[in-house]
Amino acid sequence: SGRAIVIGASHAGAQLSASLRQEGWAGEILVIGDEGALPYHRPPLSKTYLSGKSSLDDLLIRPPGFYEKQNITFRHARVAAIDRQARTVTLSDGDEIGYEKLALCVGARPRLLAIEGVELAGVHYLRDAADIERIRGGLSDANRVVIIGAGYIGLETAASLRTLGGVEVTVLETAERVLQRVTAPEVSTFYARVHREEGVELRTGVTVEAIEGDERVRGVRLADGELIEADLVIVGVGVVPNTELAEAAGLSVDNGIVIDGASLTSDPDIVAAGDCASYFIPRYDRHLRLESVPNAGEHAKVAAATMCGKPKTISALPWFWSDQYELKLQIAGLNDGYDNVVLRGDPDSGRSFACFYFKQDEMIAADCVNRPKEFMFSRRVINERLPIDRNQLADPESSLSELLKAPQS
Ligand code: FAD
Repeated sequence: SGRAIVIGASHAGAQLSASLRQEGWAGEILVIGDEGALPYHRPPLSKTYLSGKSSLDDLLIRPPGFYEKQNITFRHARVAAIDRQARTVTLSDGDEIGYEKLALCVGARPRLLAIEGVELAGVHYLRDAADIERIRGGLSDANRVVIIGAGYIGLETAASLRTLGGVEVTVLETAERVLQRVTAPEVSTFYARVHREEGVELRTGVTVEAIEGDERVRGVRLADGELIEADLVIVGVGVVPNTELAEAAGLSVDNGIVIDGASLTSDPDIVAAGDCASYFIPRYDRHLRLESVPNAGEHAKVAAATMCGKPKTISALPWFWSDQYELKLQIAGLNDGYDNVVLRGDPDSGRSFACFYFKQDEMIAADCVNRPKEFMFSRRVINERLPIDRNQLADPESSLSELLKAPQS
């Protein structure tokens, strides 16, 4: 076979290039990425990397020797255009490279905050290692950090900074509760309590109107006129998928590059994987674009098989995780459309519980905080659509394996 080109050298690109060899791709494999580093784990950026507990080398997904051995080549460049007729990509320096098969692993970028002052020195987004280096550089003489956005990235960043110590941390959120878009109120209340216990100043239901300062940031102005002083501001208000390349090439795009169950785009020679791709999830009967490492890995494995002409389908149940302080949150499934929850353990005291999301009688998702057994249990229940007695589940003394065995009414 000829040359396979992978655009994007992160979680999806790393898995896809490795899987291509495993599936038997005999030709050249060229990974083109604009970050300049070999693929590294992104999740630790807001966790151990921010708090200085790991270096970029520690974060590499695979050591350099792996790619050498697999004969996978990297090129530090940005792809500017795809010509599907000619089967070439054009780099921003003008170079043109031909492909037999192409993989789009271009991910997502931070959603920009459209307010005055975001361009001031000391205002940061958080997506790549370079962002963290800038944040760490600014931390040495910062006393007050304001984080805009109480989603996972914002809260993890708050936790890392409090763990690191030496700075006051304020988190501002427009919604009425933290993690509003992704969790039940019970889980939001739990995370708000823990962050406050750890010394984070949490302000929900506030609107940020502008960032103020001269050259450097001095504070964040709220809509009601209050100025919250800050010498460092970190913005974490979500991401947007990098779909421009695909769109310009005439591929089908709808909140992400549209792929089928085999990770194929609307062009039979082009696959897509990871944060940039939107696909139909049979278990939840809907088209979604997910942003997680397991999702990128699953897409990439299937995409590589597809490129090698082997049939495979995206089938793993979506799951996620988030680490804050000593809290290990593991999330199974997707909770969209839930209408009731069952709690196991008490989120209002202590730091370990599980929240199971039900749609009528069926479990569709679970948030498990320091509850690995509940996580494993819920993955199985959700995947296999097993009926579960909710009263027994809520009893913290009941055995999970008995629950699986119990005859259902
Ligand atoms: P990306 O990681 O976005 O990589 C895309 C790559 O393509 C980038 O390097 C980009 O620069 C490059 N690229 C884009 N366009 C071009 C182009 N035209 N030419 C060349 N290169 C290009 N997920 C979890 O599951 N658990 C977590 O705890 C978690 N924590 C996170 C913490 C942080 C701070 C962040 C930012 C993300 C976190 N995530 C977490 C999400 C996870 O990192 C993403 O889902 C994952 O990185 C997606 O991988 P990807 O390869 O699809 O895209």
